[in-house]
Amino acid sequence: MPDGMSARFWGTRGSIAAPGPGTTHFGGNTSCVELTTPSGGILVLDCGTGARSLGNQFLAHAAGPVSATILLTHTHWDHIQGFPFFAPLFQPGNHFKVYGPEGAHLSLRDVLAGQMEHHYFPVELDQLAARIVYQDLREGVYQIDGVTVRAQRMNHPSPTLGYRIEAAGRSICYLCDHEPYFEDVWREGAPAGRLESILEAGDRRHAEYMQGADVVIHEAQYTPDEYPSKRHWGHSAYPYVVELAAAVGVRRLFLTHHDPSHDDECVAGIERKARELASRLGSPLEVCCAYEGCQITV
Ligand SMILES: [Zn+2]
Ligand SMILES: [Zn+2]
Repeated sequence: MPDGMSARFWGTRGSIAAPGPGTTHFGGNTSCVELTTPSGGILVLDCGTGARSLGNQFLAHAAGPVSATILLTHTHWDHIQGFPFFAPLFQPGNHFKVYGPEGAHLSLRDVLAGQMEHHYFPVELDQLAARIVYQDLREGVYQIDGVTVRAQRMNHPSPTLGYRIEAAGRSICYLCDHEPYFEDVWREGAPAGRLESILEAGDRRHAEYMQGADVVIHEAQYTPDEYPSKRHWGHSAYPYVVELAAAVGVRRLFLTHHDPSHDDECVAGIERKARELASRLGSPLEVCCAYEGCQITV
């Protein structure tokens, strides 16, 4: 892909893997997206259980050593459980850079090592044979593998970063996991659907972050009915995501991090309602629920 970026979903599920006959379309693996940059570099966005198949594909197509950059939004299980099953990490000669938000107490490397401590996993982090460099990130702008990565904090119970990736005049945002800062989006008496009418400064900043993006991948784990009993768990329902994306001129929105209790029929229903909402808002925004194997040209 010489002049753009492309993305492929390897895991679209939130919280815990949910394989079975009810999830064959949208998929049961947890968060993992492969992003190919204009120069052919690979960014792996999150390492949920979907990363296992991605790693196997890397090896199946590799003519020589494999290298890639892993960008973790945070270290909750559903975003790192595929890391110890990512087979290229076990091969000498391969090279990976692993970036993620700095934690409150431990470095990114130490948190990943904790997951592979012998109580939980038979192989320790230090036994991985590939050359691996770890780097903790804060909010800010980074140049990574020839693309610009803007990292911004999400509203989530653990330190979490969203990533806005820009290259060749294109932009894609990957925003998992995040919850509205406030229950009402719009300021009373102000015209809805405009950035300046967003009531809470954090939600306004979140919307501004995705302004004008070609593609936004955003979590939308809950239905509006489920959300009130799960407030402060760090996840969104689709109306918040669609309203914000429509207000700031996002072109295409992919909802992901589907709840493990939502079968294909339920997720398809969320997709239908999210599209109806975008159309009611008079927005040209295209909305899809991401499924495993879904490929996007940015
Ligand atoms: Zn998650
Ligand atoms: Zn999380």
